[in-house]
Amino acid sequence: MSQPVIGIDLGTTNSCVAVLEDGAPVVIPNRGGYRTTPSMVALADNGRRLVGHIAKRQAITNAENTVYAAKRLIGRKFDSPVVRSVIETAPYRVVEGPGGDVRIDLRGTAHSIPEISAFILAEMKVVAEEHLGCPVTKAVVTVPAYFNDGQRQATKDAGRIAGLDVIRIINEPTAAALAYGFGRDLERRVAVFDLGGGTFDISVLAIGGSVYEVIATSGDSYLGGEDFDRRVIDWLVAGFQEEHGIDLRADKMALQRLKDVAERARCELSGVKETEINLPFLTSGPDREALHLQRTLTRSVLEAMTADLIERTITICERTLAEAEIGREEIHDVVLVGGMTRMPKIQERVAAYFELEPCKGVHPEEVVAMGAAVQGAALAGEERHVLLLDVTPHSLGVMIMGGLCHRIVDQNTTLPTSRSHVFTTIKDNQKTVKVLVLQGESDRGDENELLGEFSLGGIRQAPKGEVEIEVTFSLSADGILSVTARDLETGREQSLTVSATSGLSEDEILRMIAAHQDGGLAGQEEADYARRQAVRRMLTEVGALFTKVDEAIGDSNHAREAMDRARDGCERGRTALEGGDAKALGEASDALERTLGMFRGVLARTGTV
Ligand code: AMP
Repeated sequence: MSQPVIGIDLGTTNSCVAVLEDGAPVVIPNRGGYRTTPSMVALADNGRRLVGHIAKRQAITNAENTVYAAKRLIGRKFDSPVVRSVIETAPYRVVEGPGGDVRIDLRGTAHSIPEISAFILAEMKVVAEEHLGCPVTKAVVTVPAYFNDGQRQATKDAGRIAGLDVIRIINEPTAAALAYGFGRDLERRVAVFDLGGGTFDISVLAIGGSVYEVIATSGDSYLGGEDFDRRVIDWLVAGFQEEHGIDLRADKMALQRLKDVAERARCELSGVKETEINLPFLTSGPDREALHLQRTLTRSVLEAMTADLIERTITICERTLAEAEIGREEIHDVVLVGGMTRMPKIQERVAAYFELEPCKGVHPEEVVAMGAAVQGAALAGEERHVLLLDVTPHSLGVMIMGGLCHRIVDQNTTLPTSRSHVFTTIKDNQKTVKVLVLQGESDRGDENELLGEFSLGGIRQAPKGEVEIEVTFSLSADGILSVTARDLETGREQSLTVSATSGLSEDEILRMIAAHQDGGLAGQEEADYARRQAVRRMLTEVGALFTKVDEAIGDSNHAREAMDRARDGCERGRTALEGGDAKALGEASDALERTLGMFRGVLARTGTV
């Protein structure tokens, strides 16, 4: 059998890997038994690189060196609004790299975003190799439909750095539809409603046998689970302020603990009607007395505080269907994608809007990777061919006289495509033409995104308007753009693959590939070792601080409960070290991490350390 092609959903919050086995797509669990892996990368104080659950588990105590949601930064420039908002909210250091690029500083070393994503892709590669028992070098990787050219190219670069040949980039909603339609020979119109940790997407596809055609796609790249978490955090912070007159926002450590607990409570409320939120020793009062946070959050209160966010997703659905002139009654099925769609109110609202029960049976966090695996197998020739007719999510054009944008490829044009337009010179005796490649829907050039620029020289000197230059935009099936300008008289041409926007030069990529091959990434053996070491280290630290904390926090009910939990965490840690599996080690590590977060907070506040 030829080498398998894996499908990877490189998510903002979690990533997932799947492969086609015995003719069906299956998700490959990681060593800890989890079917998805947090898209987190950290650098521990001993210089060890941690990826996935291990990175997440130490996020509270090593917040500055733990990167999450790097996907929000991929292919972006340092001065963009998204990057600014990440700088304001993320505990890790985002710095400016060469050429206005974005870098993340981990313990004094600047890492590019494709490199951070490569750590996650390499982890998924190892998970697949362990499962399949053979090397894996080829992958289909998914990206959001609204990703622009630079973001797609940067994702491909990330694959190369991780030692993966990304044979195709496909859009997440298309992948979801592929998994949904797999083996069923459908003739249907399907809406894919995707609400993840950071973004919302809605796409409508027409499935006809093995042809998947995207009819419309739209979304909001600033709407996701994190916004829901923020509402819960705001509610907790406001309640605490009312009760104690203290603003927790000023306290970074407290905020990190709030973020953790807010997300957990929110997820729990998808299964139960109410949940207890408990953060003992969160901060101290004016007389240095310990203050705890304890509140009950009900599902209905959560729903009320996030109702407008849910409504926003519905408004976007309405707009997308209206723009594509599709009636709601023309949609046959709704497929839910993204962890957030586990929230019952979202399912209810989507069902009410489409007047359809959303399809059950595929896990919203797994369906995208499964679709990527289906496409991977089709490209490897193992499966019957599927034809994906994806669309470009943005219009593309060039800057013309007066700072205007001349559109060459319209939004929602089916890929691959090639479109040309003939321009003439605008000045007498013009020797060169400059082509500024733009992306966006505005007629004004400066309101669109500049993807790249190049010049075509050696033009025959002639009165303005006489020399004809043909500009051709070609979009590959991956959605990657190349632009060519050709002097129709001389045949002289100049072209640009808009890859420079990935922010990395070919030399840099080659250096990173070499560095990864030398250093290697943590394989499962090493990951297991790292887990044990982390549990050992935390046990030692908790043990060393135990008496000090016990004395510092006094003898209230909260104190006794917190110390009991700490003892329980230590017990679990010791049991897991004596032969527990990766999952037990992981859970013990979670418990110890929370205890340590609380311990450090107490000691810092009581001035003990
Ligand atoms: P994704 O980007 O698809 O991995 O989705 C991640 C988002 O889904 C995060 O914001 C999670 O908090 C959220 N999520 C995961 N599981 C649940 C759940 N059971 N209920 C509500 N939200 C969830």
